Amino acid sequence: TAKRNNSGSARYDTSLESASQQNLSLMAELKQAIEHNELQLYYQPKVDLHSNTISEVEALIRWIHPKRGVIPPDQFIPFAESTGFIAAITEWVIARALEQRAVWQTQGFPLSISVNISARDLLNAKLPGNFAQLMETHNASTDWLSLEITESAIMTDPEAAMQVLNQLRENGLAMSIDDFGTGYSSLAYLKKLPVTELKIDKSFITEMENNPDDAIIVRSTIDLGHNMGLRVIAEGVENQATWDALVAMGCDSIQGYFVSRPLAAEKLMTWLQHSQWKFKEKP
Ligand code: C2E
Ligand code: CA
Ligand code: CA
Ligand code: CA
Repeated sequence: TAKRNNSGSARYDTSLESASQQNLSLMAELKQAIEHNELQLYYQPKVDLHSNTISEVEALIRWIHPKRGVIPPDQFIPFAESTGFIAAITEWVIARALEQRAVWQTQGFPLSISVNISARDLLNAKLPGNFAQLMETHNASTDWLSLEITESAIMTDPEAAMQVLNQLRENGLAMSIDDFGTGYSSLAYLKKLPVTELKIDKSFITEMENNPDDAIIVRSTIDLGHNMGLRVIAEGVENQATWDALVAMGCDSIQGYFVSRPLAAEKLMTWLQHSQWKFKEKP
């Protein structure tokens, strides 16, 4: 059998367990994780640079494992994708985000939530229907959620992805191309995609203060996005200097540790109430 990639658990040890057995047990654990409420969404705010307010947060999944502690998504999402279990996770994420939005609404902070959609989800022709169903069940309107889809996910099978994305867009969902700049998507596809926003990958943002090439890429991406009528957001903003540079370049919004780390829902509420950035309902 193939060697495990870095998507698996850290239990790659000297025991007699074979790789496939380890995968099987990780699979079983993941299934239980949903049933036992071990998955949790953290939320990271996005600041709109035109109004200096917060209307949106990104949902980022965590696995709170009873024995192994907090497992970051990079350690189980790729595995879930390769096994198809991602469909169940994505459905859980959407339902959870809709519940959270309803709670925040009653607390007077109706934040809009972006959720990450994986490559495998985009190949699932049932995704738009499932989405619509969940929205209906939760009595949600389309501005409650938006989607983040990586460039590479779209380019896995651009034609199939396009169909799913078009349907989701027709249902009224806004969508962003995540990790933009890392996935070699052709501009011809970019033009055809029904997206509303580009999210510049943090690998370009982190170094833009020291690396002129990165700064040029960021500036060009902002101009490209704007020329195509899209909003542009930068992720991975960690300091004031990067913030200032992005403001000067006309970037529309910002996300990163400089504003806040991803937080559990209640922590986010407390943070928001004391934050220098005020909540504003998405227009
Ligand atoms: P992503 O969607 O590109 O998310 C951004 C990652 O950067 C997050 O890591 C976030 O915590 C981190 N980050 C935010 N601000 C900063 C910063 O200022 N500096 C640095 N160095 N990092 C920052 P996280 O939460 O570990 O998520 C990693 C990836 O896992 C995500 O990348 C996304 O691809 C995937 N993921 C997370 N949640 C979900 C989910 O619910 N569904 C799916 N399909 N994938 C998810
Ligand atoms: Ca994302
Ligand atoms: Ca990203
Ligand atoms: Ca990423």
